[in-house]
Amino acid sequence: MMENEATQIEGEVRAEKGEEQEKHVPQEFQECVFCKILAKQLPAMVVEENSSFMAVLEINPKAIGHVLVFPKRHIAHFEEMDMKEMAEYAHTIKSVVRKMRRKLYITGYTVVSQNGFSSGQMTGHFVTHIIPTYSSKKVDMNLLAALPTLDIPPAVMEDTFRRLRE
Ligand SMILES: [Zn+2]
Repeated sequence: MMENEATQIEGEVRAEKGEEQEKHVPQEFQECVFCKILAKQLPAMVVEENSSFMAVLEINPKAIGHVLVFPKRHIAHFEEMDMKEMAEYAHTIKSVVRKMRRKLYITGYTVVSQNGFSSGQMTGHFVTHIIPTYSSKKVDMNLLAALPTLDIPPAVMEDTFRRLRE
């Protein structure tokens, strides 16, 4: 799902790089499909709605029951949610997943959000995917396995640790 050819971890330049790429988001990605759904300018199969969030069936699904959860406020990234939204976000995901368990008989699920153009985010509206899996006998889907595991030098690990710990 995520192509990561440029996965060289260079702690110092990473943040600046991300911001730089953010400015080059193609024009066609800036039109907000989620705000249009909220304004009822686009049809959607709404499976859950509350004061801060809407959950709809993904029209380009990776699995049966693939659901998109997005805030009613046009914010771009996870960390822009306020505390009320954060609580409703967790509540919405939990509610959708419980319905998937009871009604779709899922055996597992992946919750994923891509934040920033460099991570594959294709719209300016924060969105979270809930992708169910259906097999108890084998791995049905393993999104993390699609990414290569990096051999990061110990000094870089140590530097990363020091920065994040502060
Ligand atoms: Zn929007």
